[in-house]
Amino acid sequence: MKVTKFGGSSLANAFQIKKVCDIVLADSDRKVVVVSAPGKRTSDDIKVTDLLINVAKSRIAGADYKPAFDAVINRFREIAEELEITDVLPSIEKAVTEVVESKIVDTVLYLDSVKAMGEDSSARLVARYFNSIGHKAEYCNPKDCGLFLKHNDVGKAVILDETYDNLAQLRKDEDTIYVFPGFYGYSKNGQIITFSRGGSDITGSILAGALRAEVYENWTDVDSVYAVNPNLVKNPFPVYEITYDEMRELAYAGFTVLHEDALFPVYVRGIPVNIKNTNNPSAKGTWIVSKRTHYDSLITGIAGEKGFCTITIKKYLMNQQVGFLFNVMRIFMEEGVSIEHIPSGIDTVTVIVRKKYFTPEVQEVICNRILKELAATDIKVERDLAILMIVGEAMANSVGIMARAASALSNAGINLRIVNQGASEISMMFGVAESYCSYAVKVLYKELFRY
Ligand code: ASP
Repeated sequence: MKVTKFGGSSLANAFQIKKVCDIVLADSDRKVVVVSAPGKRTSDDIKVTDLLINVAKSRIAGADYKPAFDAVINRFREIAEELEITDVLPSIEKAVTEVVESKIVDTVLYLDSVKAMGEDSSARLVARYFNSIGHKAEYCNPKDCGLFLKHNDVGKAVILDETYDNLAQLRKDEDTIYVFPGFYGYSKNGQIITFSRGGSDITGSILAGALRAEVYENWTDVDSVYAVNPNLVKNPFPVYEITYDEMRELAYAGFTVLHEDALFPVYVRGIPVNIKNTNNPSAKGTWIVSKRTHYDSLITGIAGEKGFCTITIKKYLMNQQVGFLFNVMRIFMEEGVSIEHIPSGIDTVTVIVRKKYFTPEVQEVICNRILKELAATDIKVERDLAILMIVGEAMANSVGIMARAASALSNAGINLRIVNQGASEISMMFGVAESYCSYAVKVLYKELFRY
């Protein structure tokens, strides 16, 4: 069986929902459907999730939340009317109203519960539409099905282990299409917890993992993933096959196809993911797999992301001092900052972290501790680094790619501040000034894909 997840653009209006249902009905293996909240209908439209966030924030602030609330209900009314299933509206309105008007005990949990109502209403709507056209379908409530989550110490939603066993019981009837709302689950004491934005991808992946699906289909609005950001390069090469590992390397530099936490549940179980286009179902899409069957090119993709800092620590005779690096890392750990890379020299070490976690306040604490506790000679912070990733498993054992990439960047006048390549040879990483990020990605694409 296949778990089939549809994103917000696939649920944006009645016309799109009809396409979703046609796709599901075209393959009898598609019996578990995960839906997002309705997305934008036009570029200046507002996603239902954003409308719901406005509702919650207004209510928290004691302001008038009615206009945003009405906008949400009207979106669903419009869709239901066009699909001729207005009898579903009272259940949607009741569920949304109950949550929106509930007592605000904790603002974070309140916001989570209101945000989840877009997906919840979408699932009710799609299940009802299947019924209305003569198919057995059921709306699944994540609490009844046992999708349990908790917040970890930094407020991120994490999946409780029992969730997988609970969801494995989902398909009681083989002929029924189970329609599951994405994006949220419940705490053990019955409170709604949402994932971060785009989190319906995670729900689909959890279900695919729990049900040991043959494939996790993720339907969106592009024919495939591209080798480089299509906003930077016109008509980039499509990627028809990519491994989980390659995907992870590219996602690291901002190449986002799925939510970054969505690969893990399918990765550990070896379930392939197929990215497909709701607006062009016959396109073969992109397969994310554990092992590739073929390589179209040496390089799978190129990505670049801004937002990194370097902290360069100097200490004379550093290499002779046992435990110096350990102590540097300990200080970062104690201050709660995750380290991304640590290129080192003989008497210097550079720690690379993401700027968003290395605020000026954190910087001051960490730098003072390193200078005082480790008697470092000097410490220099630069807050303008971009990371470029060149990714491709086929690069292993092939000669000259680093040379070509480096000389293309040098011909373009781009200084390489950091170079890093692990022995697995799956990726090459360069650090350049943030102002060069997009230009450098274009230069690398032009060189390595020879277009
Ligand atoms: N509706 C949520 C969002 O807009 C979750 C999702 O679509 O995956 O982020």
